[in-house]
Amino acid sequence: MNNMEQTLSIIKPDAVERHLENEIKDVFKNKGFSIIKEKKIQLEKEEAEKFYKVHETKPFYNDLCNYLSSGPIVVMVLEKENGVIANRELMGATNPADADEGTIRKKYGISIDKNSVHGSDSVENARIEIDFFFKD
Ligand code: UDP
Ligand code: MG
Repeated sequence: MNNMEQTLSIIKPDAVERHLENEIKDVFKNKGFSIIKEKKIQLEKEEAEKFYKVHETKPFYNDLCNYLSSGPIVVMVLEKENGVIANRELMGATNPADADEGTIRKKYGISIDKNSVHGSDSVENARIEIDFFFKD
């Protein structure tokens, strides 16, 4: 069985601000993910709105887009066997208060909005999100 998958991961502003970038990258590497591509950028609000368009009807959409564009982020393409679900499991629940022990959000997340990492939620969305940041 070989089902290598790529997924998009973002280290969000709250984690970059606390200098957790290398520590979080090491968590991924220690769990067997390869970091195929990475870049540190800051989004314009309009770009964050485009990235999170799926959430545009949600009450938290505006705050979410302000937040994601509020400071530098690290965007990465991660690769691993069944990488999309493996990354979701390693990240933990959206709300760090609900996240399991051993997950990134449990360890580093501050709150439901400042939850330190983003990860694609399906193979299809992973392709779309990787293209969003890395299409040349
Ligand atoms: N979010 C929020 N309030 C909520 C739900 C979500 O601020 O009530 C933020 C949170 O930072 C989350 C992001 O919106 O990571 C995207 O939400 P989604 O449901 O896609 O969660 P995720 O896929 O990141 O676990
Ligand atoms: Mg999501």
